[in-house]
Amino acid sequence: MGLFMSSNQVIKALKKGLGSSKVFYSQEYLLTYAYDATGSEYAVPPDVVVFPQGEEDVAAVLAVARRYKVPVTPRGAGVGYSGGSIPVRGGIALVFTKMNRILQVDEDNLLAVVEPGVVTHDLQQEVEKRGLFYPVDPASLKTSTIGGNVAENAGGPRCFKYGVTANYVLALEAYLITGEKVVSGSYVIKDVAGYNLKSLLVGSEGTLAVITRITLKLLPRPQCRILARLDFDSLSRGTRFVHRVIRGNLGPSVLEFMDQSAITAVCQYLELPLEPEIKASFLVEIDGNPLDVKERKERLLSMVADEGVITWQMAENELDQDKLWHLRRNISPAIARLRPRKINEDIVVPISKIPDAVSHITELARQSDILVSLFGHIGDGNIHTNLMVDPEDKDELARADVLLEKIFRYVVQIKGSITGEHGVGLTKQDYLPLQFKHGEVELFRRIKKAFDPDNLLNPGKMYAHRGD
Ligand SMILES: Cc1cc2nc3c(=O)[nH]c(=O)nc-3n(C[C@H](O)[C@H](O)[C@H](O)COP(=O)(O)OP(=O)(O)OC[C@H]3O[C@@H](n4cnc5c(N)ncnc54)[C@H](O)[C@@H]3O)c2cc1C
Repeated sequence: MGLFMSSNQVIKALKKGLGSSKVFYSQEYLLTYAYDATGSEYAVPPDVVVFPQGEEDVAAVLAVARRYKVPVTPRGAGVGYSGGSIPVRGGIALVFTKMNRILQVDEDNLLAVVEPGVVTHDLQQEVEKRGLFYPVDPASLKTSTIGGNVAENAGGPRCFKYGVTANYVLALEAYLITGEKVVSGSYVIKDVAGYNLKSLLVGSEGTLAVITRITLKLLPRPQCRILARLDFDSLSRGTRFVHRVIRGNLGPSVLEFMDQSAITAVCQYLELPLEPEIKASFLVEIDGNPLDVKERKERLLSMVADEGVITWQMAENELDQDKLWHLRRNISPAIARLRPRKINEDIVVPISKIPDAVSHITELARQSDILVSLFGHIGDGNIHTNLMVDPEDKDELARADVLLEKIFRYVVQIKGSITGEHGVGLTKQDYLPLQFKHGEVELFRRIKKAFDPDNLLNPGKMYAHRGD
């Protein structure tokens, strides 16, 4: 059962505005849209689930929300890792999975215009058929939507070279809860007219406006790529190697790492042989034109010879590369089996601090007696830090809480960030004041108020006071 008291009137008004076929409120629907990838711990069901099929449906939903003062929570595929699409105050779950058309791929201007519900991988496939490339590749790309990516400013392995979602958003169309439509940005790369509303909306986690149309910059597709897996007998040796690769002008598109607990878990999960002497594994991808890739591959191999890599594999064709990616993309489900609950964080540290940060966090985890699994986008300092706990063990949970706060404080102290791509959402809002101490959180609230005076759009997220 949802939280909003006048659900019946709201449902009636929604059916009238959109037609019955887009409005659902059976228990199955309410349960399905109660949570995201954070799992059942944070789940709260909406009162009604709506699937818009065009911007006029979105406008109709917002009109009902205004009239009845009902919260609206936009939602893409619901694979967020910070509880962003959980309707914590009940009300309407506005699900974009049926508003999923690729409206235009403009090959001359290298851009695509899409509805928010397009699945990231579907867009990539479509543009690659035409020799173009949309590089942002969250590990969830086969399910996540472009709307969810924009609202979270999603990143992924290739962001080391290519940047995050924000770097590709040329223009946005969005609806404010007031019913006004906002268009920000254009079909050009340079545009400094007016306040940059588009940049404010990217990463706003569905708290300021509902995004209805997205124009994305595309690139020419790289002609070839190679992917190497390098294994080290010590994590610190591996992270020093990464630092050398970054400084060495090799220009990799991907620099990923997994610590020993992540490797062990994924090998067990995929039933692959375990090599206990491997303490850390790294993936290095290089892309570009064939001659250039060949030259950089040779330089990478000469570094491998110098740096005490114990084993390595080079994948030059798509099939072999897929096998290596398969390993990397299965880490999340693999480590989720280590303990009943995975507290999944995505801190970022300055690249010069990567080796220190990895050793420091490993040592803090040892002192706290908490199993911590580290993996992620080491090239840009985005370390997925997973604290594995049993929620039944209250003592362990309390130790994990203390450890988490220590990690966040450390990250902020070395001028990193508490989240690099998953967003603040529900799960990290208590920690936001660690990073913003000088009135910025108050400014966030004032911005929110200007967009959404009645606090109806995705309330209870990011910087909410308890009870907001
Ligand atoms: C296995 C796994 C791997 C992942 N790997 C990565 C990774 O490598 N990089 C990364 O960045 N993230 C990663 N994530 C997190 C997640 O996939 C991303 O945050 C993704 O962008 C969420 O997309 P979604 O469509 O599921 O959005 P949802 O989870 O449904 O929503 C996310 C936020 O966007 C808002 N929103 C959705 N649509 C709209 C809209 N149209 N208008 C306004 N607001 C909207 C919601 O209100 C919510 O706040 C991973 C998640 C999983 C489960």
